[in-house]
Order: sequence, then C-alpha cells, then structure tokens
Amino acid sequence: MYKCFLIKYSEIGLKGKNRNYFEGCLVTRIKNVLGKLGDYGVYREQGRVFVECPEDYDYDDTVEALGTIFGISGYAPVFVVEQTDWDSVAKGVCDYVRDYFDSHSFTFKVFCKRGDKSYFKTSPEICADAGEVLLNAFPDLKVDVHNPDVKLTVEIRNKTYIYSDCLPGPGGMPVGCNGRAMLLLSGGIDSPVAGYMIAKRGVSVDAVYFHAPPYTSERAKQKVVDLARIISRYTGPINLNIVNFTEIQMYIYETCPHEQLTIIMRRYMMRIAEILANRGDSIALVTGESIGQVASQTVQSLTCTNAVCDMPVFRPLIAFDKEDIVKISEKIGTYETSVLPYEDCCTIFVAKHPVTKPILHIIEHSEKLLEEKIDEMVKTAVDTREVIRIKD
Ligand code: ATP
Ligand code: MG
Repeated sequence: MYKCFLIKYSEIGLKGKNRNYFEGCLVTRIKNVLGKLGDYGVYREQGRVFVECPEDYDYDDTVEALGTIFGISGYAPVFVVEQTDWDSVAKGVCDYVRDYFDSHSFTFKVFCKRGDKSYFKTSPEICADAGEVLLNAFPDLKVDVHNPDVKLTVEIRNKTYIYSDCLPGPGGMPVGCNGRAMLLLSGGIDSPVAGYMIAKRGVSVDAVYFHAPPYTSERAKQKVVDLARIISRYTGPINLNIVNFTEIQMYIYETCPHEQLTIIMRRYMMRIAEILANRGDSIALVTGESIGQVASQTVQSLTCTNAVCDMPVFRPLIAFDKEDIVKISEKIGTYETSVLPYEDCCTIFVAKHPVTKPILHIIEHSEKLLEEKIDEMVKTAVDTREVIRIKD
C-alpha cells in the first residue's frame, strides 16, 4: 500500500516570482479537498508537492479526489525511502519491484531526478546503477530503453521517492488563485460546463439561477442545486443565488414586442447578475453561451446582451460545438442531470419568431417602455433572493 503521492504541476511552475503564491494556492486546495477524507499531510519541496496519507486511507477515494483538483498535471503513488545513501536507494528499488508488482518478468527503463544536485552520482549514473541492481535481483527483467513496459522513476531529494505510474491530473490552475466570478447557471448542459472551465483557470465561482414560479417548478430549481453541487467538486464551495424572475418576465411579456422578449430578458438577467456580483466579491460574469447555438446567441444578440454589463463577461464555450460541450458534461458528471426534462424560465415565454439580428438601439427603445416599474422590480428580485451555500 502506498503511503504517499507525488503531485506534479506544470503551468504554475512557470510563474517565476509568483510561483510561491500559486504553489500556496495549490497546497491549500489539496488540503481542503483531502481534509474531507482524512488527516493527510500536504507539503511542498522544490517544484513538487507531496501528500502523505493517513494509516487507514482509501486509495480509490484519494485518487478520485486528487483528480478533481485543478493545477495538478499528474500525480503518482510513490514508495518512499527515508534515506538517500546509495545502499538505501538500491534496496528501495528492489523492495519496490518485489512488493508492488505481481509479475517480475517485464521490460523496464529507469528515469532519475535529483533534487539535490550535489548528490554523489549523476542522473545517468543513478539510472544505470539502479538498472544493474534490478537486473541482478530479478533475472527475468529486461531493459528496453525505447518501449519499456515499466518506466521506473527514482527521485532523490531529502528522501528517495520511487514510482512507476503517473496518473493524469486535470491540469489548469488551482481554484482561488484568479479571483471569483458569478456564473449564470441554468439547468441546461452548457452553463455547468462553463463553470467547470472557468474554475479550471483558477477562478472561484458563485452562481445565480433565475426561476419563474409557478411557471417553473421546485424540481427545476432542485436540478440547478444538484448541478451546482456536482461542479462544486471541482470549483470548491459555491454561493448559489436563486432569484425570482416571474414578475420581471411577465412585465416584459406584457410590455415589449414579443420577438424581442428573450433578448430583453437576457439583458435583465445580466444586469441582476452584475448587481449580485458586486454585492459579493465576484469581478466578472460567466455564461454558457456559444456563438450561433440559438437565436439569443448570434453575434448580434450577444452584442445586445453584453451591452448592459460593465464587468467583463467570460464565455468559455463561445467557440465550442454542442457535441464537444456534451463530451465535457459527460466527463464531469453533469450531463445526466442537465438532460432531465424540467422547464426553464427562458423557454416559457419564448416567441415563435425571435429576432436573430437584434439592433441595440431598437432593444433599448423597447426597454424604455419598462421604465415605470422595472427598477423597483429588479430591486425586489435582488432583495428577495434565496442564497444556498453549496459545499464541495
Ligand atoms: P444552458 O444549456 O446553459 O441552459 P442554453 O443553450 O439553454 O444554455 P440559453 O438558454 O440561451 O442557452 O442561455 C444562455 C446562457 O444564459 C446560459 O448558458 C446561462 O449562462 C444563462 N442562463 C439562461 N437561462 C438562465 C437561468 N434561468 N438562470 C441563470 N442563467 C441562465
Ligand atoms: Mg438554458
């Protein structure tokens, strides 16, 4: 049983003077995630992070949890030898091969990394000598430098770390190192994926969902809560704002030209999302929009929606085909929930022939018709929102 994992990170290793900050974010995130599973030790050393597992830890749960942590490019279960003198290293590689492999008949190649460059053997010497030790100890092993069955890595630091299996991490940057953004989260396929992708770049996520009771049901709301919970495994905790949009939607429906409904509605969603972002500590908005997917996502429509925001609006899926978005949603586990057939507030008052090339000044002109009551309605919607704290 492995007692330790070696964590590799690529991108944050390139951050020069800021590297310390990013490494700190990664360590904090690993501690938070693994802290729920047990008492793990997490420490860093020269471009590596190590996770020490508690006695009774569950291997599969640990591997799964590490696989949700952005910033990790790969992670290897490692065999640790406390000493670094050559006898200990040589014994360590033999113990490792004997104890961790069922068969001792395979081809291999040894790789080496030295944290301590003053170590008395060079890397090529360590590789050659460790190879020789193994060939002597296990007669059925063979060296194959081109296409080995087993790539055995020996890292000599203040201890010796031996491993042969590096699992791929999700990549990206540790959540929390790049500020916080407000995700417009609907019950669809796209917006949970957008939240996942922005978190992958290190951005923490809060979310807002607009519902329209009694036109949208409690089940539709629950679906969004469930989606937030699924993505929180990757994003960390989410403050989910549930905003009652019924009054605003009805007012737009009764007052504005029907073919402009969706665009005007979307503009009010963005306005409210920005108000909520400013009340929390979000400094950007995030949506699941993708060019051309529906009438409200043509470039002209996006231009009209965008015009109400002062904050940057990030649309991580802007150039993605639906098929590719679906693949990600399957991978992260949101797809099955997203396709549950509950109504969304956008689909309820939808026009038969929505504008696909809205013109901003015409939309603004229509919105003037709302002047009498809309500010008060927006204020009420914001003030009466429900906030659910989604813990990861
Ligand atoms: P999704 O699959 O995310 O629902 P969609 O293809 O259905 O997206 P639209 O309904 O046009 O697209 O919505 C575009 C974006 O607007 C969504 O990705 C989401 O960010 C936001 N949005 C739409 N409806 C809501 C809602 N009810 N609450 C919060 N955000 C919403
Ligand atoms: Mg939708």
